Amino acid sequence: MRIQFWGVRGSLPSPQLPMQIQRKVAAILERLSPQDIETPAARQRFLDALPMWLYGTVGGNTSCVSVAFADPREIVVFDAGSGIREMGIALSKQEPQIERYRIFFSHFHWDHIMGMPFFGPAFNPSVQIEFYSPQTYLEKILSYQMLPPYFPVSMRTMGSQKRFHCLKGPITMQGVTISYKKIRHPQGAYAYRVDDGKHIFIYSTDVEISDADFVHNEENDSFFKNADVIVIDSQYTHKEALSKSGWGHSSFRAATDFAAFWEIKCAVLFHHEPAYNDQKLFENLQEARSYAEHMHFKDTHLILATEGLEITL
Ligand SMILES: [Zn+2]
Ligand SMILES: [Zn+2]
Repeated sequence: MRIQFWGVRGSLPSPQLPMQIQRKVAAILERLSPQDIETPAARQRFLDALPMWLYGTVGGNTSCVSVAFADPREIVVFDAGSGIREMGIALSKQEPQIERYRIFFSHFHWDHIMGMPFFGPAFNPSVQIEFYSPQTYLEKILSYQMLPPYFPVSMRTMGSQKRFHCLKGPITMQGVTISYKKIRHPQGAYAYRVDDGKHIFIYSTDVEISDADFVHNEENDSFFKNADVIVIDSQYTHKEALSKSGWGHSSFRAATDFAAFWEIKCAVLFHHEPAYNDQKLFENLQEARSYAEHMHFKDTHLILATEGLEITL
């Protein structure tokens, strides 16, 4: 399976501010010496050696992650945050064209649905979109954000063929099984587990990790065990999480503990706090890695979710 990240920010889209870009350019120029621009190869070496937070960005779009399998005409998507707009543009250029999108929702807080009205393929009559959630009234919930006076086009008039599915248990399509589990978040949210028979991917955002998540029981074991990759809410620093108890998100340290406890090979820190800039987010990653080393968590690799990141399993 091929996992692609289109939106990684939590709560609210957070584009780079002009001042932040100016600071990056100034910091890059400070590092530059004349020999770094003598040849194209030297220039490339200089750029490649820059810290990731300086030469690039984590991205400002809200949650949207796609997972592609063997059939290139179908794709599974988790959440329709503002990142889904970019996904629609990028995948529309792909050959063969995607004929069916299967969109699963963790929950319906704005940052997870706000991209839907701007999802280009939803206007294409030859595209089928299957929507999934364990929540009832899925169609109503998604349509309401497009009613007047919030948006000029209704969901019904978007030209694609749409079907809405209320999940009652795991579903299997083309050898891939997707199951779900309720997670701790104000007004509820769901994590999803994708099992293609060879690898297991878990999407678990908007979760305040608690003691109950570190208990071996049938529900937890069958959901979290043997996962290869987990996309996990790690919105806060440890200190901030202490002051935001009950807000429904986790610290990157709790996310690290969780992934290590369940022996998940790779944890992708996700749903970044909008107030944290690129430098701060990469510092958090370093801190999480130092913490994992200190705790002797040797089997879990930690990475930061960034727009454009791809993982192939
Ligand atoms: Zn969220
Ligand atoms: Zn939420």
